[in-house]
Amino acid sequence: MAFIVGDNCVKCKFTDCVTVCPVDCFYELETMLIISPEECIDCGACEPECPVEAIYEEDDVPAGQEHYIELNAKESERLMAEGAEPITEQKDPLPTADAKRKELGL
Ligand code: SF4
Ligand code: SF4
Repeated sequence: MAFIVGDNCVKCKFTDCVTVCPVDCFYELETMLIISPEECIDCGACEPECPVEAIYEEDDVPAGQEHYIELNAKESERLMAEGAEPITEQKDPLPTADAKRKELGL
């Protein structure tokens, strides 16, 4: 099992989560981050760090977001195969982050 990044991260990328991950298993897509389930050790440290509550345990992914389980797995596998490095340092969120956060009411 692993933790999963879901829809609330899309257009946000606050990246608070990456600094606490003990195994550096966050990877970056254009509009969101993903977690490699191959590398995630299920520690749960990242979940409370996300300001928009975008991180879930695989068993707790909200209804309608189940496809993110496969997306996290497939895209992280692809990026690793391409030699991508994990994201380990916090950076500025996307310009759309504040609007998305308001939209989510968080
Ligand atoms: S802290 Fe949340 S919004 Fe930010 S990159 Fe991580 S999962 Fe996405
Ligand atoms: S649960 Fe732990 S190991 Fe998995 S992504 Fe979050 S911080 Fe990293």
